[in-house]
Amino acid sequence: MYFQDVLGNNSIKTILIKEVYSNKIPHAQLFNGAKEAGQLPMALAFVMFVFCTNRKKDDSCGRCPNCIKMLKLIHPDLHFFFPTKGAKSSSKDNFLEFQKMVQQNPYLNKDDWYQNHKINSSGGIKVRDAKIINKLINLKAYEGAYKVFILWLPETMNTITSNKLLKHLEEPSPNTLFVFITENSDTLLPTIVSRLQTKTFKQIETAEMLTYFQQKHPELEGDSIEKIIKESQNNYNGILRKISGQINEEETHNNFIDWMRLCFLAKTKKSIPDLILWCENMSKTDKNLQLEFLKISLQIIRHAFLLNYSTSIDLYPKIQHPNFNIKKFAKYLTKKNICQICRLLDNSHDYLIRYANSKILFLDLSFSLGKLLNK
Ligand SMILES: [Zn+2]
Repeated sequence: MYFQDVLGNNSIKTILIKEVYSNKIPHAQLFNGAKEAGQLPMALAFVMFVFCTNRKKDDSCGRCPNCIKMLKLIHPDLHFFFPTKGAKSSSKDNFLEFQKMVQQNPYLNKDDWYQNHKINSSGGIKVRDAKIINKLINLKAYEGAYKVFILWLPETMNTITSNKLLKHLEEPSPNTLFVFITENSDTLLPTIVSRLQTKTFKQIETAEMLTYFQQKHPELEGDSIEKIIKESQNNYNGILRKISGQINEEETHNNFIDWMRLCFLAKTKKSIPDLILWCENMSKTDKNLQLEFLKISLQIIRHAFLLNYSTSIDLYPKIQHPNFNIKKFAKYLTKKNICQICRLLDNSHDYLIRYANSKILFLDLSFSLGKLLNK
């Protein structure tokens, strides 16, 4: 990946380039910050720049043997470690799948990786991975000047795994670099964080997103792209999904309205068959759509709650439906139930990634939501 292709966080690019040229690259760094702010693409651009033998002023050449291997993610001195499922698995066993997904989309997020790979809560970077790192660290770099270890989502390591890595972070091995990539450094062990030099990523700005997606999709109106960016709250993968037309907004909103009505009515036995049918239909849709539906539902509920405090809030998404009045709906969202409702939706989203039976999940969720809304 080239630096020029990484969206946002230009100040971090400048620092990384300066550190390479002045030969002051921190041996262990933490790329932390906002959700989907491009930590992984930045790490890929940084490593390519480190390995490039014919660097330009502010980017890699893209032509030297090191760059060519980096563009294909097959450089022998770059080692990826990321969450995998099952105690016996390791990143090395799952690399081809990871490589494919990152090449398709360097802004790969945890949800998509976990779902694609059917990883459940026991997934993570494993002790086996730490053992592999321990072995590799003693080898010489083959072709790049450094050996580089990228740990994607290091917060998924358990304490044993983390402790196995500590000594490498404390006592740097020659010509070895570590890049830890996270969106939530609070969940990392403090002993790890304190040994890393942190670079904090900011959310990618709307203007930059707009230019990028306009170039990618000249067939779309600027206004409609801007609307999608705002509705997706500058979330790269959300924008991508909407643009690729996977999500029919109107249908999602209608579905939300139906669902809320059925949740409200779930206390009367009469409407339960309809609710079961709704859950059954939802469970038959693509899992990505189910996940997106939960995200959008959460977004609508949060914004509706805010309406109770200020009517001048610019609401995204805007729902236009003859039988739905968001202000009336907002009256059912109070300080007493909003936290529980949001937590419920958030947790359900996480469970849905891990478990197959979404019909039961939606049914459970609907009854719980119904109780909270009727409180
Ligand atoms: Zn190069």
